[in-house]
Amino acid sequence: CGIVAIVGRTPVAPLIVDALKRLEYRGYDSAGVATIEDGKLARRRAEGKLVNLESRLKHEPLSGTIGIGHTRWATHGVPNETNAHPHFSGGVAVVHNGIIENFAELRDELAADGYEFTSQTDTEVVAHLVARELARGAAPIEAAHAALKRLQGAFALAVMFKDEEGLIVGARNGPPLAVGHGEGEMFLGSDAIALAPFTNSITYLEDGDWAVVRHGGVSIFDIDGNAVERRRQQSLGTS
Ligand code: GLU
Repeated sequence: CGIVAIVGRTPVAPLIVDALKRLEYRGYDSAGVATIEDGKLARRRAEGKLVNLESRLKHEPLSGTIGIGHTRWATHGVPNETNAHPHFSGGVAVVHNGIIENFAELRDELAADGYEFTSQTDTEVVAHLVARELARGAAPIEAAHAALKRLQGAFALAVMFKDEEGLIVGARNGPPLAVGHGEGEMFLGSDAIALAPFTNSITYLEDGDWAVVRHGGVSIFDIDGNAVERRRQQSLGTS
């Protein structure tokens, strides 16, 4: 239900949790965060409120400087830790708001290809789709784009890759997603309020947009892969 992602320069997990708190008004039943630790994806997830995730992180901290976080409002699969986002497959991590309408068809196709599902969510198909493209030889951005083309429904997504410590791909088709511009670091969030502690320089993605986010900035494309221009604006900065 809420997404925050940071391509940062300092440990991002505590920043992501603080930003997710600013999205609590949307409601949620579980939460999670993933970073890259020593070249590997690592995550902490917890059912219930963000304080539960915080206490998990207190005992088992994450130190990665790139990360994605999520507050979940379950639509497919009960609210528990294994259904909480981020979802992983083959070095790919995904958080998602909304519903993948064709997930059953995609799940059957991926399962027939040997992909094992560890959650009951519609979201997990996205992680496997991107991972399958990587396994077939696609580069990360290409893999994310190919996966996006297969998705139907309403979604906002953030995708992170184990081997790319300076890249997050975001996408919007329905639920809002905003890009925040920092100094040598960049942000994604469900709204500008979530990003207010970091920046008030915001670019809103439009439906059908997907974004390549790196430390130095963002490039935005339509579903066919054509670059699109989106205005960068000052949010009201209610921090
Ligand atoms: N449909 C996804 C799930 O049930 C995401 C729900 C959300 O927007 O939080 O896990």
